[in-house]
Amino acid sequence: MTRIAFIGLGNMGGGMAANQAKAGHQVSAFDLSEAALDRAAGAGCTRAASIAEAVRDAEVVITMLPAGPHVHQVYAEQIIGAAPTSALLLDCSTIDVETARKVAGLAQAAGYAFADAPVSGGTAAADAGTLAFMVGCDEADFARVEAALEPMSRITIRAGDHGAGQAAKICNNMLLGISMLGTCEAIALAEKLGLDPDRFFEIASKSSGQCWSVTSYYPWPGPVPTAPSNRDYQGGFASNMMLKDLKLAQEAAARANAATPLGAQSEALYAMFAGLGHGGRDFSAVLQLLRGRLADLETTA
Ligand code: NAD
Repeated sequence: MTRIAFIGLGNMGGGMAANQAKAGHQVSAFDLSEAALDRAAGAGCTRAASIAEAVRDAEVVITMLPAGPHVHQVYAEQIIGAAPTSALLLDCSTIDVETARKVAGLAQAAGYAFADAPVSGGTAAADAGTLAFMVGCDEADFARVEAALEPMSRITIRAGDHGAGQAAKICNNMLLGISMLGTCEAIALAEKLGLDPDRFFEIASKSSGQCWSVTSYYPWPGPVPTAPSNRDYQGGFASNMMLKDLKLAQEAAARANAATPLGAQSEALYAMFAGLGHGGRDFSAVLQLLRGRLADLETTA
């Protein structure tokens, strides 16, 4: 049994904290939202009145917060100094590499072991305890990090030193955004050429165009029954979230002087899609923009 402080109990953190409690750990949970705290308490966590209270006796602190500014503020002002220095600090949020390195520096200077450990897998995997974690930490700390993440994970891979977990997450999601747009463009063209999109799935999923966006997340309803395309693109991975990750990739590319022209195009297309009012839809709904059929989404909003 490990004493875990869990901060940020939203769509992802709620299920992750529940899996730590289910594994028999003592989870002291905090969120600004009362509803999120109620759900965590219902799943076997203990409500804390503040971050300071949640982390006071923690052996492991896990954060799952919206973005970089939240992570920096919570660590700099509320966790570092309040948690015992023996505690392992794990940030699982998706944030920019710079902030991840800055927070790691603050934590290390105060005597803590810290890891950036963003996830791939979405809310279904968070609930099921089957997330993929990509970790940036000191090599010596990795065994401890892997053990702490185990109840929430299918696989945990050390990407490198601090910030490398976030770098891996940003690069992976830029690739995902590009491959989803490529898949949608191909379906839209297939349709215009008179090719049945179901038949195109049969072919592309077994040919060299095969990728996760085709085989596991086909944006046309039917061939992949679990894909959000079968439920009017509700739930899943919101276009706004994809846009956030594509922006992080472009900011990182500008700083590193890397050429990412397709990432830039993808960011522009998702910004347009979100600007048209569809940011809450799953990111595969961008198919309707490329088909010129946004009206179909409006009627099912
Ligand atoms: P969410 O908005 O549902 O949850 C974030 C939670 O943090 C909210 O409950 C909010 O009240 C809480 N919070 C914000 N500031 C706080 C503070 N100062 N103190 C305590 N609690 C605070 O977001 P989410 O979907 O759970 O995503 C969390 C992170 O995981 C994001 O960085 C996101 O990019 C990443 N992520 C999300 C998905 C997904 O499919 N939703 C997949 C992979 C990664």
